Amino acid sequence: MAELSTRLDSVKENIERAARAARRDPAGVDLVAVSKTHPPEVIREALDAGQSLFGESRVQEARAKLPLLPARAHWHFIGHLQKNKMRQALPLFELFHGVDSLESAREMNRVAKEMGLYPRVLLQVNLAGESSKFGFSPDGLRRELEEILTLDRVQVDGLMTIPPAAPEAEASRRCFAGLWELRDELQAAFGVPLKHLSMGMTQDYTVAVEEGATLVRVGTAIFGPR
Ligand SMILES: *Cc1c(COP(=O)(O)O)cnc(C)c1O
Repeated sequence: MAELSTRLDSVKENIERAARAARRDPAGVDLVAVSKTHPPEVIREALDAGQSLFGESRVQEARAKLPLLPARAHWHFIGHLQKNKMRQALPLFELFHGVDSLESAREMNRVAKEMGLYPRVLLQVNLAGESSKFGFSPDGLRRELEEILTLDRVQVDGLMTIPPAAPEAEASRRCFAGLWELRDELQAAFGVPLKHLSMGMTQDYTVAVEEGATLVRVGTAIFGPR
């Protein structure tokens, strides 16, 4: 397998190419390098190759790894956040990609208030209606966004989705386009900016960029198999 820095460069090139093909500014897409399961040495290699934004999906693992890495690394939480892990997770991450229920948003707000924090979040939408996945249904979000926007600590910066696993990247396109449409609809209906769309993984990140992703979460293509 090629060097990490070579793989990282090729992911960045693919993002740039997809953005230009869609007449988007490549600077409007941030790469979240998903470093879950990989040890600090490997993450340091990515840092040295110029990557500064990383995604982790387990709180325990992040608590062990983050203190071992330089402060120039920035961290996003990309997984499902259990209620009993919020207190530990809140101080570690700059953005929480997967707030997936009203209850979870309320609980995060409560804990954030106690800790004096203002967490930034993306709301996870389960567009395909898969019962195995976390997230708001589009209708659920239409109903519940108003209350979420009244929470005084949690700051909603956009939406996130994980499409059904499929062998072809193209299979995710409808889901990504659907997230974009839902974002536009909610922005108009609630009069709030929902700047970020977190969508696309190793399998389908170029399609996600074509459909408006502002954050892509790529692990395997950078770090190799887990
Ligand atoms: C693990 C993970 C990724 C990265 O997946 P790859 O296929 O390795 O790129 C992206 N998003 C979420 C939510 C993940 O859990």
